[in-house]
Amino acid sequence: MVTSQSYRDPEMAKRVADKINALTPKNGVIKICHVCGTHEWTISHFGIRSLLPSNIEVIAGPGCPVCILPASEVDAAIQMAKKGIVITCFGDVLRVPGSHGALLDAKAEGADIRIVYSTSDAVKMAQEEPQKEFVFFAVGFETTAPSTAIEVGRKAAKNLSFLVSHRVVPPAMELLAKMDDLQLKGFIAPGHVSTIIGVEPYAVFPQKYGLPTVVAGFEPLDLLFSVYMIVKQLSEGKPRLENEYSRGVSWQGNVKAQRLINEAFEVVDGKWRGLGVIPNSTLALKDAYSSFDALKKHSVPLVDGVDSQPGCQCHLVVVGKIKPPACPLFLKACTPQNPVGACMVSMEGTCRVWAKTVNAQ
Ligand code: SF4
Repeated sequence: MVTSQSYRDPEMAKRVADKINALTPKNGVIKICHVCGTHEWTISHFGIRSLLPSNIEVIAGPGCPVCILPASEVDAAIQMAKKGIVITCFGDVLRVPGSHGALLDAKAEGADIRIVYSTSDAVKMAQEEPQKEFVFFAVGFETTAPSTAIEVGRKAAKNLSFLVSHRVVPPAMELLAKMDDLQLKGFIAPGHVSTIIGVEPYAVFPQKYGLPTVVAGFEPLDLLFSVYMIVKQLSEGKPRLENEYSRGVSWQGNVKAQRLINEAFEVVDGKWRGLGVIPNSTLALKDAYSSFDALKKHSVPLVDGVDSQPGCQCHLVVVGKIKPPACPLFLKACTPQNPVGACMVSMEGTCRVWAKTVNAQ
């Protein structure tokens, strides 16, 4: 029987690392980007980088939905909370910095802001208190968008609307692929997102950009295998799209979830904190559901916010241009207890992962 322990076998890890070493040219840097906070956690927690040749650099891209949540949307949620609307959100979202503080600060000042563990929790709360207006702050990539889409489609509570902040990952990867100064040599594509969208949407990376791309799972051997597969493709000079995580991800993905997303949302241009506006990267409610659009319902405009506090280097961390310790605020002014930047908020944020794992080693 294959268990998670099978994917943590140190002997096998050593054999794969030896194969990577044997295939890796001695000169030049091979920069491989992953786009998933859980991948960063596995890589950092299990010391995967220490097993790789020194000229293979695995960098973290914008794989944490909380890290790329623009301050303007946090500001809008705070504005709604101050109007007396109940804001519901996942726990991480509470501490994401807006232009002048986080939702947690508004909560401390008396606003009714509640943590939920699922979208249906927000629906239940709204149904139980029909005299109040509720907003669900829907943050996340393709992984969480289907659960928002289900509740939008059900129109389960007239007093619940949605501040939709869902982003889709491939357009952000394309932005990185186009960054000449990053000089990427390959992508490790995110496992969770791929369970929904499948493998096919990444075909553009080997085809158009010549970048080997491998969908990977979350165990240490998954990451090592994916690096091996990328290095092998490079050594053969044949970039292609491969699925290392076939036990969790199919080529076509979760078609039912994709249908739900397509029914509720359209894809529009959208801002990512630290990255600016990325074309076709954001989900917006379709016109048929505009009465459930919190911004429209409560007449709160999205106004450009302050994404970066003085000294904050999150915009460089989310594209892997620097490692967290290079930020002058890392574990000084900015800590997991008191995050200055969004990358220190969530367990998926690169700075938070490094503060909790790399720095603790
Ligand atoms: S240490 Fe804090 S401020 Fe600096 S990049 Fe990380 S999250 Fe941003």
